[in-house]
Amino acid sequence: MSILDLIYPKRCVGCGAYGSYLCAGCFSFISFADQGFCVACQKAAIGGFTHPACKTSFEIDGVFASVAYKGVVKRLVYQFKYNPHLLDVKQLLVDFFYEGIIQKEPFINLLTGRSFFMPIPLHKNRMKQRGYNQSQVLTEGLVERLQKELPVNEDRSGGRIVIKDCLERIKQTKPQFGLSQQARLANISGAFCLKSNSVDDLKNASVVFLVDDIVTAGTTFREAAKVLKKAGAGKVYGLAFAHG
Ligand SMILES: [Zn+2]
Ligand SMILES: [Zn+2]
Repeated sequence: MSILDLIYPKRCVGCGAYGSYLCAGCFSFISFADQGFCVACQKAAIGGFTHPACKTSFEIDGVFASVAYKGVVKRLVYQFKYNPHLLDVKQLLVDFFYEGIIQKEPFINLLTGRSFFMPIPLHKNRMKQRGYNQSQVLTEGLVERLQKELPVNEDRSGGRIVIKDCLERIKQTKPQFGLSQQARLANISGAFCLKSNSVDDLKNASVVFLVDDIVTAGTTFREAAKVLKKAGAGKVYGLAFAHG
């Protein structure tokens, strides 16, 4: 037991029971079955791939999410965002993220070449406020598990799954929550730029996975993908812990 366990006794985020941040009963309510959707039109899409008819130039190729953003998952994400000292909560999120994402065959099938995993960056002011980037933390946890546990073969080795940080957030955006799709797009437009010396890196990737904690309408992923594709990236997908 650490000193933190004494200061902050572990309680289930769902029902308040002592002992862990998620009890077995509340765990059973977590829904992994997330319907795939097309971020361009918001309608259902098999596997989470953007509909071919919706794909304009520089559009993201698809989005995968691990769990549904509701109930106990919402509370876990809240704890994760605002109580960064709770390492157990972080590990829970990483584990659910991993377990959910490896069940998605379209995602696994994309890991044949060199895959870049790229966290959605925070603006430097927000970073100063919060002290850490939750997307970065999730990216590190997810990549560590993928490298460790995915079967290694000629096409797919741990060394081919790498974290690459090519994006910078240059615009401080308002929270997207509650905004219409049009307002979301206007809000996020111009938010990202490419870090210097990233262009050559991008050309070496067979696929780029942008990583974020929550995907709602997918406008953040779409804007980031646009910047990467304009710079020469081939396939770009979004990976989110939760969809809501
Ligand atoms: Zn519980
Ligand atoms: Zn569509």
